[in-house]
Amino acid sequence: MFVQIRGNSSGEQIAKIQNEARQAGFTEAVVSRGQEIIVINCIGSVPHERKVALQEFFRDLPFVIDAVIATSPFRLTARDAHPENFSVVLNGVSIGAAEPLVVIAGPCAVESAEQLVSCAQAVKAAGAKLLRGGAYKPRKSFYNFQGLEEQGLQLLAQARQQVGLATVTEVISPELVPLVAQYVDVLQIGTANMGNYALLRAVGQTNKPVILKRGMAATVNEWLLAAEYIVATGNHRVILCARGVRGIENGYTRFNADIDVIPVVKGLTHHPIIFDPSHPTGDRELVSPVALAAVAAGADGLLVEVHPDPDNALCDGAQSLYPHQFAELMTKVRAVAAAVGRTV
Ligand code: PEP
Ligand code: MN
Repeated sequence: MFVQIRGNSSGEQIAKIQNEARQAGFTEAVVSRGQEIIVINCIGSVPHERKVALQEFFRDLPFVIDAVIATSPFRLTARDAHPENFSVVLNGVSIGAAEPLVVIAGPCAVESAEQLVSCAQAVKAAGAKLLRGGAYKPRKSFYNFQGLEEQGLQLLAQARQQVGLATVTEVISPELVPLVAQYVDVLQIGTANMGNYALLRAVGQTNKPVILKRGMAATVNEWLLAAEYIVATGNHRVILCARGVRGIENGYTRFNADIDVIPVVKGLTHHPIIFDPSHPTGDRELVSPVALAAVAAGADGLLVEVHPDPDNALCDGAQSLYPHQFAELMTKVRAVAAAVGRTV
């Protein structure tokens, strides 16, 4: 069961809900703070009649918006928890609901100050609202570039300062979460770590927005259950990101672009969903058409790899757009967004 209370409720009011829940037999009552509502997630097995009695009691309290006996396996991320679309604010930029589309762009990996700053300037000029760049890269091969690690985080912080774009970077282990959270605005969990439950809990303990990519072979329910870990741990600022899944090898793309999950996910959850057209295609000539299809399908934003010199990139050069290609894509994104009633 979960209880939604007004965002301006006092500590005493929160404690009242928690105490009542514990007295009724729930083992945990985890608080997740939103802007307009606070959700208290009551966890534990309690007989249904006792839940119904508690629900009635909670509903009579003036600061309670609603008390819900959850029926979905992903209870806090499901639409019954929050029937309206909800937006996540990323350092002043809102994503989701009816907000303008948010385009996040930048290199796969942070390589140097020059590479990052020149990329940041180019993507900002073209209309990107956030800068991406990996400092810790979860590479399939041990022998591939693994990222600049903390130095990469420092470069992201400098680029943020110099260019004025909020930043996104991937975090690959629970121990690194506090360090990474010090340097960037938004944490990303990659496809390889969608099911890393210790990591999901660790980002759930921060107050940073989290972009949660779909596991490359995960079902939609598994993906939402992973999001639930973050929200249930206390951080409701989760943005889902589709990035292609393993399917039939066609010999031309890295993954199968899972554009159909955009409307599926929108039906199941109020959380924003964005699309990464770079990793499923693996080929910069295919990035734009797939990105535009995602916008047409209702994505709340895009996450696109762009590199000032993709032919010499240390990671994912083949799928990285040249800055001029990114600017051309942005012009088309504006047109397609307008056709489906959105702005950029
Ligand atoms: C990335 O965004 O650079 C990345 C590694 O993506 P994914 O986890 O989707 O492969
Ligand atoms: Mn990449």
